Amino acid sequence: MSPNQPIKQALLSTVTKLRWSLTSLHWGGIVDWPRAASPEPISADESSCVGQPATEQENSTDRERALRLIQRELGNCTRCRLHQTRTHIVFGEGSSRTSIVFVGEGPGYDEDQQGRPFVGKAGKLLDKMIKALGFGREQIYICNMVKCRPPNNRTPSSDEIEACSPFLVKQIEAIRPQAICALGACSAQNLLRSSSPISRLRGKIHHWRGIPLVATFHPAYLLRNPSQKSAAWQDLIELHRIVSS
Ligand code: URA
Repeated sequence: MSPNQPIKQALLSTVTKLRWSLTSLHWGGIVDWPRAASPEPISADESSCVGQPATEQENSTDRERALRLIQRELGNCTRCRLHQTRTHIVFGEGSSRTSIVFVGEGPGYDEDQQGRPFVGKAGKLLDKMIKALGFGREQIYICNMVKCRPPNNRTPSSDEIEACSPFLVKQIEAIRPQAICALGACSAQNLLRSSSPISRLRGKIHHWRGIPLVATFHPAYLLRNPSQKSAAWQDLIELHRIVSS
């Protein structure tokens, strides 16, 4: 070990703590702060090593292939009524090597138009949440409980969720992330088969098929209720802890 190693480690630890404190302030609404308040996303090379054994890299092609097969099986789906009003199926996107899968409720207007998850206003906030975790959007995986937009953005019904769920289950199983983040009540309640409100489901670690699951407020809810951002921030810290351990 080089004589400078302990100093380097102490510095790294201090910088990490500082980064988290500044990001926390930023989240808490202190926006008049130097730009460096948000941590820069770690590079693709670095992030691919976070908690990923070497064999994970070899498996990524298998995972991508599995995801492509699931998408092919989904096809031009007509399994529920949502197909009648959709423009595009929103399958989900991101890295098959991710340590975190985010699961939202269902596509909104922008997502339906573009065929991509979380690309509207809520998506912009989700991007910030992902950045606060130290990732770029392309390094994680994002999907929804249902793959077609419910008319007028209503909550998907249980039969619509049921029709879509075999595909969601296969997607998450194909990726086997280190953690799942359920965004909002619809996602958390259905994944956990619970009727508890999101305010009770958040703040603790659950498990979905053996994978740790953290539930938090939906970004669209946070846009309407910014005072809840500090609670969501605590959930992100928990998520960060799980994928860093
Ligand atoms: N809200 C969601 O739940 N999912 C999206 O993809 C977009 C908005």
